[in-house]
Amino acid sequence: MGRFDLERKELIDTLRNKGITDETVLMAMSCVERHLFVDPMYVNRAYEDNALPIGSQQTISQPYTVAFMTQSLQLSKEMKVLEIGTGSGYQAAVIAMIGCRVFTIERHLSLLNSARKIFDQLNLRIASKGGDGTVGWKEHAPYDAIIVTAGAPKIPEALVSQLKDGGRIAIPVGDRESQQLVIGTKKGDSISTVIADGFKFVPLIGKNGWN
Ligand code: SAM
Repeated sequence: MGRFDLERKELIDTLRNKGITDETVLMAMSCVERHLFVDPMYVNRAYEDNALPIGSQQTISQPYTVAFMTQSLQLSKEMKVLEIGTGSGYQAAVIAMIGCRVFTIERHLSLLNSARKIFDQLNLRIASKGGDGTVGWKEHAPYDAIIVTAGAPKIPEALVSQLKDGGRIAIPVGDRESQQLVIGTKKGDSISTVIADGFKFVPLIGKNGWN
């Protein structure tokens, strides 16, 4: 048994108890070792259901948030997924573990470089780049799903235009202090949305985000 195997199993039980039911998501999260993605200073807290600092004033998202957002995208193998806000790389790794092709963008290059090292170490199918993710990544569009891991003032049009018809987007929308998690499904030129409350995100900074 690995040092954190039992704690990781207990975290999965916690996620089930909080209402996560998608076995594909739970399986992926039971495989991805979150302790590899946290700051070494917090390694003993890696399997708490909490966000933790990762440097550059950013955080690795709370496991429940990762599970909830991933579940809401209804992912399956071979789907093309765009993530805005690589951060530690943990969320991208969970989506890659499901078998999706992941494209991820991060504006802090130091975070991106650390995440890339772990992607290489784990041999994950993840393409990444530094920059402003609010404009998306046109070259690889259209995507089956888009996940935004920082809070936006509104859903960026550029991201909707890079989503396939029937594709899903999960994005926190609100003001800088509090957001609602919006799950949108693209239907022709419009997007139908459902809302989930009770989440807190760092701000999405960029052309179609906050200044
Ligand atoms: N997915 C991350 C993880 O698993 O660790 C969560 C990271 S954190 C909650 C959100 C990230 O979004 C931060 O690293 C932040 O720098 C990044 N971010 C904010 N605005 C961005 C933008 N316009 N483009 C790309 N990344 C952005």
